[in-house]
Amino acid sequence: MKLLYEGKAKQLFEVENEQEIYVHYKNSATAFNGVKKEEFEKKGVLNNTISALIFEHLEKNGVRTHFIRKVNDTDQICQKVTIIPLEVITRNLVAGSMAKKYGLEEGKKLSQPVFELSYKNDELGDPLINDDHAIALDIVTQEELAEIKQQTHRINTVLKDLFLQAGLVLVDFKIEFGKTHTGDIILADEISPDTCRLWEVNTGEKLDKDRFRRDLGSVMEAYEEVLGRLEHAKS
Ligand code: UDP
Repeated sequence: MKLLYEGKAKQLFEVENEQEIYVHYKNSATAFNGVKKEEFEKKGVLNNTISALIFEHLEKNGVRTHFIRKVNDTDQICQKVTIIPLEVITRNLVAGSMAKKYGLEEGKKLSQPVFELSYKNDELGDPLINDDHAIALDIVTQEELAEIKQQTHRINTVLKDLFLQAGLVLVDFKIEFGKTHTGDIILADEISPDTCRLWEVNTGEKLDKDRFRRDLGSVMEAYEEVLGRLEHAKS
C-alpha cells in the first residue's frame, strides 16, 4: 500500500476505494511536540482498539465519525477526509496547560466545560487561537465553527457518560474534525488515552498519556486498564 502520510502516532495508507483511508496505529509515544519519544510494544493495538470502540459508541449515539471498520489489531479503515487544522480541546476539570497558564490547581472543577482551539502546526507548537482567529484566517467559516462546537459539546456529553460508566473521569480531551468530499464536517483522527486525560473516579490515579509525559511508569498497564474498563462498561 502507498503511504500517504506519517504522523507521530499513525500512518495513513491509500486504498483502492478513493473515499477511504487505511490507518495504522504505531507503537511510538511522543510528547512535548516530539521532543520526548519512546516505543511501547502494545500501544498500537491498545489505541486502535480503544479508538474503534469509542468511535462505534459515538456513532450509536448520533455522532458522525470517520471510522468505518477495524481491519486487524493495529489497523482500521476510515473515511477519507481533509483534516481541518484545528486541535479542538474540551476541559471538564483544570489540568495540564490550563493549570500551568493560569496558576490553577489540577483537578479544580469548572462551572462549565471550557472549549479551546489550537492551530494545528508542529513548527509553531500548536498555538492557542480564538474563534475570531480561526474565522479571520479562513481555517473555518462561522457556520462551520458553530457546527464544530455543537458536535464537540455532544461528544463531551456522550464520552463523559461512557467513561463514568467505566469508573473514569474525563478531565479533558483533544479532537480533530475533517471535511468529507461532500463538505460535511465529521469527527476524525483518534480518541484514546493519548488524547484524553482520564482519572480513576475514586483514587484520582492518572490512566492516560500523562503517565508517559510525567515519567509515572506503567504507561501501557494504564491504557490496558482503560480498555478493560470500557469493554466491561459497554457489555
Ligand atoms: N492534547 C493532545 N494533543 C496535543 C495537545 C493536547 O491530544 O497536541 C490533549 C491532551 O492529552 C489533553 C488535552 O488535549 O487531554 C489538553 O491538553 P493541554 O492543553 O493541557 O496540553 P498538555 O498539558 O497535554 O501539553
